[in-house]
Amino acid sequence: MARVYNFSAGPAVLPEEVLREAQAGMLDYNGCGMSVMEMSHRSAAFADIIEQAEADLRTLMGIPDNYHVLFLQGGATQQFAAIPMNLMKNGVADYIVSGSWSKKAFKEAKLYGDARCIASSEDENFSYVPDVDGLTFSPDADYAYICQNETIYGTRYPKLPDTGDVPLVSDVSSMFLSEPMDVSGYGLIYGGVQKNVGPAGVVIVIVREDLVREDVNPATPTIMRYLTQVDAKSLSNTPPCWGIYICGLVFKWLKEKGGLSAMKQINEEKAALLYDFLDQSKLFRGTARTDCRSLMNVPFVTGDAELDAKFIAECKDHGIESIKGHRSVGGMRASIYNAMPKAGVQALVDFMAQFEKENA
Ligand SMILES: *Cc1c(COP(=O)(O)O)cnc(C)c1O
Repeated sequence: MARVYNFSAGPAVLPEEVLREAQAGMLDYNGCGMSVMEMSHRSAAFADIIEQAEADLRTLMGIPDNYHVLFLQGGATQQFAAIPMNLMKNGVADYIVSGSWSKKAFKEAKLYGDARCIASSEDENFSYVPDVDGLTFSPDADYAYICQNETIYGTRYPKLPDTGDVPLVSDVSSMFLSEPMDVSGYGLIYGGVQKNVGPAGVVIVIVREDLVREDVNPATPTIMRYLTQVDAKSLSNTPPCWGIYICGLVFKWLKEKGGLSAMKQINEEKAALLYDFLDQSKLFRGTARTDCRSLMNVPFVTGDAELDAKFIAECKDHGIESIKGHRSVGGMRASIYNAMPKAGVQALVDFMAQFEKENA
């Protein structure tokens, strides 16, 4: 068996310990005589799984009691619609557009109300996060929306906007559980788990109690109403059982690793390895502005598309996979999520140094 260093942006690398534990229970989970994939979502065994997953997530993130945790389907993209449908009571929301994901969310929200783009960094191909100091939010806005880590452009908010009484909604898909967050500073936090938490098929929504209401947009499908899923404890219909189970194993793994402060430290070390190399390299350079660089997604280029292609092709021989950048930035992108070991980042940096020498 040869595991590669998988730098994919998502679905992405999962901790080997978690995969092994899932493998061990594949034929007989905990004496049930069946796998988690095969069991009823109404069974006692699955109730334990989802309840423990929620409890562990609450511990990891320090989620206050007045927030609900939902394990849903439809990916992060479905939340682009669910958020305005559920939260736009006045029909107004402010969006900061700092990349493709917030741009898509903004576009979707316009289908349901007066979504306003109050700041954008599209003028420089989203290589930075708009300055949030001095931004004014619409007083009648139901929420203000950000994508806190833009997966494609490798940027992250160095500082959160002060939205006053306007609830802050944040897409944290590609930075979920990579560092501690003060949940009480948000109205709603959500993320597709296939970036940093688990397998594709689950989106986690953490929403403040007072934002879960009955008087949502009347066209909101029953299944997409937060109240439906809060009342049913995410079991309104069949949930993505297997995915939730794996997320639960990842939560346990994170707790054993020392929780989110410990993860943040490791993630900072890994990111520094790569950024320090990029900053002194004469061949490679990072594309995101230094003050808003992501700890999770690191896009970089040589400036020569042919050389980029050669580098990507040669990476395979060094056990480095899925390093090709997104087409809107070009070049390479290394996604260095929680489950990417430091040795993987070191292997990448070592090969970059070698490639630089060979192609000087
Ligand atoms: C991947 C991604 C999405 C889209 O996720 P899906 O689960 O495929 O819908 C949304 N936002 C961010 C920040 C992402 O990285």
